Amino acid sequence: MNAADLDIIGTDQPIFDPSAFRLTEQEAELTALARRIGKSRFAPRAEEFDREASFPTENYNDMHEAGLLGICVPKENGGHGAPFRTYMMTAAEIGRYCGATALTWNMHVCSCLWTGALTDDLEMSHDQREKHLSRRAKHYNRILKDGAIYSQPFSEGGAAAAGVVPFSTSAKRADGGWIINGKKIFASLSGHADYYGILCGEMKEGERPSRRDTMYIAVPANADGVKVVGPWDPLGMRGTVSRTLIFEDVFVPDEEQLMPRGIYYQAATRWPHMFMTLSPTYMGIAQAAFDFTIQYLRGEVPGLPPVKRRMYPTKQMGVAQMHLMLEQTKALWFQAITEAAPDPTREQVMRAWAAHYTVMENANEICQLAIRTCGGQSMLKSLPLERLYRDSRCGSLMLPWTAEICLDRIGRESLYLPGESDD
Ligand SMILES: Cc1cc2nc3c(=O)[nH]c(=O)nc-3n(C[C@H](O)[C@H](O)[C@H](O)COP(=O)(O)OP(=O)(O)OC[C@H]3O[C@@H](n4cnc5c(N)ncnc54)[C@H](O)[C@@H]3O)c2cc1C
Repeated sequence: MNAADLDIIGTDQPIFDPSAFRLTEQEAELTALARRIGKSRFAPRAEEFDREASFPTENYNDMHEAGLLGICVPKENGGHGAPFRTYMMTAAEIGRYCGATALTWNMHVCSCLWTGALTDDLEMSHDQREKHLSRRAKHYNRILKDGAIYSQPFSEGGAAAAGVVPFSTSAKRADGGWIINGKKIFASLSGHADYYGILCGEMKEGERPSRRDTMYIAVPANADGVKVVGPWDPLGMRGTVSRTLIFEDVFVPDEEQLMPRGIYYQAATRWPHMFMTLSPTYMGIAQAAFDFTIQYLRGEVPGLPPVKRRMYPTKQMGVAQMHLMLEQTKALWFQAITEAAPDPTREQVMRAWAAHYTVMENANEICQLAIRTCGGQSMLKSLPLERLYRDSRCGSLMLPWTAEICLDRIGRESLYLPGESDD
């Protein structure tokens, strides 16, 4: 990415002002980079990826060049070594300009964040740690050197992705590796990722499947027995290309294990904020809908006649409602991502669910208010607002923390202390 290129366009105000929110230097720098690349490169391309439901390959080339594919690769491996909060705020800035790019980038980044900073906080034997460090270094090298892209297909259409039952996609021990069989639905980046970072259940002879035996393995996209099937023509997030993946007796060598045996279960139980990483895309969309509304009502949208609509009290009320929701969402989300760490308190986990729910639902509500407030011409396909509205609808549906599951858990946890029941 040519720095001079990026400067031509000028940038928007940050979602989280570095001085007001006391960001670290690295946070200020990475969020500024995301705003520059997002506005100059991703925003102009977003309409086409959405219309054609095609994958944003050009955006990935730009992110590779700008070093963003390695944002969560540890510094000692040559990446930015961005901690959780830094990544989350950077992703929000990307989501502001292209939702599908931010959401798919999240799947890729998790393969580094979860194997990197997150597993550094978990317990492993000395041997496990040594092996893990050497394996992850190979994954990171592919990403930084070759621009390899990883995806994160977990969903199977049943309760496994909700964290309720074991995955039915199976990994069976074989000489020097694993044999994978199964099916993943809604696999974002299908046909475009170089590695599919799947969650699957280790099949142990004579034992019933258990969530404790969940394995996290990178399946090379070009391995024998891997197939991408089915159409992709959804309401929103069309550029994610989330088709169905089939694995039929796919052999994967040991070194493709992204986490040692048993460690994913430890991560999911001890580091629950790991599931919040789907939310920054929607934080960015909420900000984008607000930004558009201000520009539109001031008569400043490029290419449109300079008609001002800001003088009507009803429009001002609509904008005030949006502003309130945006500030409330930002404040809660910022607090939750700031306190992400291993072994959070019950209150912190409840706040993470509350923040996740709030971002997902408010992003859609803010987009809805934006269309109502701006008026009929604002929802034409030539403008970004109707895409933001469609994309924003997808957030609440994403497992494991759908809006319904967040409500369910918050309600139960509020009324029952640990260990309490009505029996
Ligand atoms: C644009 C887009 C991109 C996506 N990309 C990915 C991706 O890259 N990787 C990936 O793994 N997934 C991805 N998903 C899938 C997503 O995370 C969900 O798995 C999917 O939306 C669930 O659809 P469903 O119809 O099976 O949902 P549902 O039927 O709502 O849920 C599936 C199952 O979860 C359980 N469940 C649901 N709600 C509850 C509840 N309240 N309490 C207990 N159990 C419950 C039930 O068993 C239910 O049958 C994507 C989804 C979208 C929309």
